[in-house]
Amino acid sequence: MTGDVAVVVRGLQKRYGERTAVAGIDLDVARGEVFALLGPNGAGKTTTVEILEGYRTRDAGEVVVLGEDPAHAGRSWRARVGIVLQSVTDLSELTVAETVRHFARYYPRPRDPDEVMATVGLSDSADQRARLLSGGQRRRLDVALGILGRPELLFLDEPTTGFDPAARRIFWLLVESLAGEGTTIVLTTHYLEEAERLADRVGVVAQGRILEVAAPADLGGRKDAQASVSWTAKDGTRQTVVTAAPTRTVTELAAAFDGEVPELSVTRPTLEETYLRMVGEL
Ligand code: ATP
Repeated sequence: MTGDVAVVVRGLQKRYGERTAVAGIDLDVARGEVFALLGPNGAGKTTTVEILEGYRTRDAGEVVVLGEDPAHAGRSWRARVGIVLQSVTDLSELTVAETVRHFARYYPRPRDPDEVMATVGLSDSADQRARLLSGGQRRRLDVALGILGRPELLFLDEPTTGFDPAARRIFWLLVESLAGEGTTIVLTTHYLEEAERLADRVGVVAQGRILEVAAPADLGGRKDAQASVSWTAKDGTRQTVVTAAPTRTVTELAAAFDGEVPELSVTRPTLEETYLRMVGEL
């Protein structure tokens, strides 16, 4: 175990009765890394993350998070870990500001509650009862509570579910700034665009196993995948060539058309297409 590693998982297994949720997962997350777990509903992502957070027991395997086994780690370890669970926090009658200030007291070195509310875009809702917030605003409050203690490692389980597109983009900036400060981040998401934007590496999980771990640009051999060059021919038909040398194809087309190639496009497999193919849904 070196100081460069935030999370080590070996041979992790978890069953619920007859159902196997995690069937032997190996994983390493480096310190300072943003790591995204992708996978279909029921793949075992939340189970894995909750075991790493110390909220679920495991049946087999080794787990080391910030140098300790989460199953036995104490309060000082918990203060170093920030958690945004998938289910929204159960809220009382407190206002947003009261909730954030209340939770700040649990940490030895909390961030300033007003700053945190501003960071997640809740300053204008500070005096509103937390229970009455919209779904997306409640999610922002969850995120606020997760980052309040200046965690070294932040777990985000589907953090932007229910966010409108503008809120999602603001959230991405927040994650990038936390990562810029050196926070290690493990997130699960169903938004491929989110994984591509934020993650240094993604791990694709299906049926309790990791299919591949790679940088988003490399997943499923994307980087080496052939490009599709499409254009509209002089007779009006749509033409497509799949090639490893799209620049040459485009140059030849430009010469043949003596200038602009009608409705030219050059595409490679997107992360979403690659992911869907990997999990067998394309
Ligand atoms: P999603 O993307 O839908 O959140 P996930 O990848 O996070 O899915 P998990 O929530 O880890 O998947 O679930 C993995 C499997 O374990 C599923 O088949 C689920 O039904 C089952 N499961 C999860 N929690 C429990 C539980 N407390 N009791 C019984 N079965 C469970």
